[in-house]
Amino acid sequence: MQAFICTQCGTQQAETEAAPERCPVCVDERQYVNPQGQQWTTHERLRRTHRNGVRTEGPGVLGIGVEPQMAIGQRALLVRGAEGNVLWDCVPLLDEGVAEMIRGLGGLRAIAVSHPHFHASMVDWAHAFGCPVYVHAGNREWVLRPDPAVRYWEGETMALGGGMTLVRCGGHFPGSAVLHHAGDGGAILAGDTVYVNPDGRTVGMMYSFPNHVPLSAGAVRRVAGALEPFAFRRIYGAWWGAVIEDGGAEVVRRSAERHVAAIEGEYDA
Ligand SMILES: [Zn+2]
Ligand SMILES: [Zn+2]
Repeated sequence: MQAFICTQCGTQQAETEAAPERCPVCVDERQYVNPQGQQWTTHERLRRTHRNGVRTEGPGVLGIGVEPQMAIGQRALLVRGAEGNVLWDCVPLLDEGVAEMIRGLGGLRAIAVSHPHFHASMVDWAHAFGCPVYVHAGNREWVLRPDPAVRYWEGETMALGGGMTLVRCGGHFPGSAVLHHAGDGGAILAGDTVYVNPDGRTVGMMYSFPNHVPLSAGAVRRVAGALEPFAFRRIYGAWWGAVIEDGGAEVVRRSAERHVAAIEGEYDA
């Protein structure tokens, strides 16, 4: 039995004898199936061909990715905290070097994920550090490798301790969440619940990013509304270097207004 990992999206599946026929995450219209056909790898195989890259993404925040880049290029964020470290989002690979480094920093007290495109190998990571993985109950059907380490949280917010709060925004997925971190003006770790755009000054909120399906005005207002009670300067997006350093709360407000204006016709030629 092996827990196969989809090479296209990086999601690890429940253990099976033979590789599954298809990956539910890729079949869904918020992703896409490998044009060359469905392909699989395993954590064992990835450890031989890839490694984890680590870089500082902000004060007390380390980015962890996979090199050479694979799947959708996920990068997780390790948030250092007085009450212990939290891993936000996950990547398909945990190599021995980075496991050693994280143990040296005190291990992980929790993993929390924004949405299914960043579930990756979260169960293997949770087992390696003996910690829980928090997934919003709205995304339960997308937990493709169920495990006792996975804890479903419900409602709109959940305090994680150490000034960290999980906030359900919905939109991209019903349980799409961000991690708010108080202190130093505040920050949100956003996954692609709010996507940090290439201009570095705005964010996007979409149903499907790769297939360009927008959210409705109502859904965008709900995402922005869920973040309204929180103060934050920084927005950490889901990919390397996708970080807005200042004015984050205003960026979300302005970007939501622009999205609504666009789908209501203001940009029509
Ligand atoms: Zn997939
Ligand atoms: Zn996504």
